[in-house]
Amino acid sequence: MTKTIKIAYLYEDLMNTYGDSGDVKILSYLLKQQGFTTQVDDVSIDTPEFNAQDYDFLFFGGGQDFEQTVVAKDLLRHKQTIADYIEASKPMLAICGGYQLLGDYYEISDGTVIKGLGILPLHTIFKADARMIGDTEFETEWGTVKAFENHSGRTYFDDPEKLKPLGKMVTGYGNNPDDGVEGMRYKETIGSYSHGPLLKNVNVAQALVKQIIANHEARLAAEPV
Ligand code: GLN
Repeated sequence: MTKTIKIAYLYEDLMNTYGDSGDVKILSYLLKQQGFTTQVDDVSIDTPEFNAQDYDFLFFGGGQDFEQTVVAKDLLRHKQTIADYIEASKPMLAICGGYQLLGDYYEISDGTVIKGLGILPLHTIFKADARMIGDTEFETEWGTVKAFENHSGRTYFDDPEKLKPLGKMVTGYGNNPDDGVEGMRYKETIGSYSHGPLLKNVNVAQALVKQIIANHEARLAAEPV
């Protein structure tokens, strides 16, 4: 029997800056090596409600401010299912604009406040004077990560007890110019400013693959026979 890993890709048509979809392609490739096929379902504007718990992995890529404004409005209808999924310690990866929208709000250049999902206690403020752009390097639990960042939003944790950084900066900015850290970890959810795509760093990709397979097995075991 083929084992199919189900991935929900949030708003790929609007949130896919700098080739973030490469993260999903890399995961599909690594999962195939372990005997799994992947089914990637698009969740976007006009797609029906979805139940996150039917999936083994959620992915949310980066986007420009305009697209984020559009997505943020539609996204709120999925708040409960995504929050339940994250709280149940199921794996999710959110990059840049997607990472920002998991938090409480993103204040953009003209002062407009984009309401995020409010699942994670963090917020982001746009600062036009110093866009954070360039190659990055940071140290994580799984070793060194090399990536690329391009954002004006500065992200700050509002509950540092609850959220942990993904890594400590060696080169580049990461979340903001002040804290010296990159990204966020909460349960099995990762937020990150890393494009490149992030998962070309196979150390992180393999850690995610392990979580995804474990979640898949738990999901199947919980299904009624
Ligand atoms: N628009 C956001 C910012 O500039 C996110 C950018 C991105 O996802 N690359 O901060």
